[in-house]
Amino acid sequence: MKFYEVAVYEVERALKKLEMDESLANIIREPQKSVEVSLPVKMDDGTTKVFKGYRVIHSDATGPAKGGIRFHQDVDLEETKALATLMTFKCALFGVPFGGGKGGVKVDPRELSEAELERLSRQYIRQLREIFGQDKDVPAPDVNTNPKVMGWMADEFETLVNKLEPGIITGKPLAIGGSLGRTSATGKGISIVTREACKKFGINIQGATVAIQGFGNVGSFAAKCLDELGVKLVAVVDVYGGVYNPDGLNVPELIKYAKENKTVKGFPGCQEIDNYGVLTADVDILVPAALEGQITEEIAPDVKAKIIVEAANGPTTPEADVILAEKGVIALPDILCNAGGVTVSYFEWVQNRTGLYWSEEKVNNSLEEYVVRAFDNVIATKEKYNCPDYRNAAFCLAAERIGEAIKARGWVNY
Ligand code: GLU
Repeated sequence: MKFYEVAVYEVERALKKLEMDESLANIIREPQKSVEVSLPVKMDDGTTKVFKGYRVIHSDATGPAKGGIRFHQDVDLEETKALATLMTFKCALFGVPFGGGKGGVKVDPRELSEAELERLSRQYIRQLREIFGQDKDVPAPDVNTNPKVMGWMADEFETLVNKLEPGIITGKPLAIGGSLGRTSATGKGISIVTREACKKFGINIQGATVAIQGFGNVGSFAAKCLDELGVKLVAVVDVYGGVYNPDGLNVPELIKYAKENKTVKGFPGCQEIDNYGVLTADVDILVPAALEGQITEEIAPDVKAKIIVEAANGPTTPEADVILAEKGVIALPDILCNAGGVTVSYFEWVQNRTGLYWSEEKVNNSLEEYVVRAFDNVIATKEKYNCPDYRNAAFCLAAERIGEAIKARGWVNY
């Protein structure tokens, strides 16, 4: 199944479980707006290259669209639609007052200089400026984008509209209205879900072992926060290679090494391990923190983890989900596990709009509250509707809330 088909499949499963009215279901199914633009960018060598850019608003029924912008060579409209759909459900599940959107540029950012990346980022905003706005559609970082990119984009937008509007984009640098705790938020959310899951499913978190696929912003902060909870990181892999140490990796040292070398590969005192090795490592907890479609039906039979905490969006295919369920693996879905990021994006947006800036403690305490509440709600929803798995429970709860908003707007008769 392609990624967009996967997203649609999960939405359908929830709509069916809820026996949702067809008129309502029809609205929830379809992305509201999909835009594709060409982005001419002057390269350092004097030539001009044209990149493809996308922005999809899946839904703004529950609030302004919200979701990151991805720079990756595999970005296309279908992937962006899938990711936008997940954002609508993620925000609804967490009760943050946003709908769902997503953007992306088909580019391998490793092949661009910093100046070229800046021109590309600004061009993206110029071509899509009509879509964005703090009450319309609010982007943020995603794979291969970061606070620096958000800073360029915020500046470009504010220059175009000729006023300051920091709530146009989240994940900004602190100096221009970013929030304390935003960079670590997704990783922190992962660790809170893991802690709650260990409590619920009777695993002692102290000394529990974890393997992480991906060591970007999300993977590395998940490693840091899990390490602080006493979890033992034994295996990590990124695009260049992986490292394994059954006695546990020194996480602060590994983070330092990865920053300096742009990869975990070659971290001293470890065995080498590949992607398959990490996904099938003999650990308690597996954290896929890279891209979609990683835990497939080929990999799933060999997964040894007791719990999967999905840090990436869409890392497990539906075919793999079935195999994991048969094996008794507890698969906790992306829209529950990785929503720490968008939750603190919401706090950032609130701070931008009120002009009152929060302490890191307040951000983290509020994040803790949101994540624990969402976790408990997913557990309760699974029981309420007798859902076959936690993914279905999370989608059901979210679909109910999205449905309520659509009804309240009068888009269907009820
Ligand atoms: N890109 C992140 C996600 O997939 C964060 C989105 C946001 O903060 O708007 O959830």
